[in-house]
Amino acid sequence: MPELPEVETIKNELLPHIVGHRITGITLFWEGIVRQPSVEEFRAHLIRQRITGITRRGKYLIFSLASSRALIIHLRMTGSLLLKSVSSEPEKFIRAILYLNSEMALHFRDPRKLGVMWLVEDANSIVGKLGPEPLEAGFTPQLLQRLLTNRVAPIKALLCDQSFIAGIGNMYADEALFAARIHPLRLGGSLSQGEIEKLHGTIHQVLWSAIGNKGASVDTYFRPGGELGTAHFQFRVAHRLSGNFCPVCGTAIERIPVRNRGTYFCPKCQPEP
Ligand SMILES: [Zn+2]
Repeated sequence: MPELPEVETIKNELLPHIVGHRITGITLFWEGIVRQPSVEEFRAHLIRQRITGITRRGKYLIFSLASSRALIIHLRMTGSLLLKSVSSEPEKFIRAILYLNSEMALHFRDPRKLGVMWLVEDANSIVGKLGPEPLEAGFTPQLLQRLLTNRVAPIKALLCDQSFIAGIGNMYADEALFAARIHPLRLGGSLSQGEIEKLHGTIHQVLWSAIGNKGASVDTYFRPGGELGTAHFQFRVAHRLSGNFCPVCGTAIERIPVRNRGTYFCPKCQPEP
């Protein structure tokens, strides 16, 4: 699923094409994609609205509107946003289209129909409970240490918990833990100060590197222009098939479930708790 680097890439690549333009029409092929308010109110408010900005919070995209309301989009497991010319015919799996006065249209593609759009007065009603942004200045090793104190959940589960830290999911949690040589089942509160500092650094490193590579196209992620990201070519353990070997020590990568998430790690570089 799209995680922070994928959503950040989408935001960056949509910005020059979307901001300052008005929505001129909306087609919903799947009305269930609108979570809030009613489809009628959603449509009535958005048409003729000018989009004044796009920001990202965790894995959410927030489109601010001239009316001061916000259109919030979450791509969930399989969603992508594709920029097309206004005359482009919708391909398979397009659930919604927003037409813009720039002769462009934003196609919401989502094979599994899990993606969601909200139109809200206050974005915090949707994103207010998220944990800190890992790439913002306030996310320091000291903050990570404070958040981990006395936590008895596996560190892998905490990193994927959006109320603990925003934007990280399965792929980048596995990569950050591998780079920090921390076993995914270690309990959050058991990490030493040195390990926390290391993990803080590897979270930064894997996220910035993936943003530089425009996200990871392991399944259904596309950039807005339809291109793939290349971040997955840098993965050292995430999404490795069985039979792959650790690039550091040559041991076979293992896959275990952690709170139902397939988790990849090296049993030698990341020793058991
Ligand atoms: Zn290894």
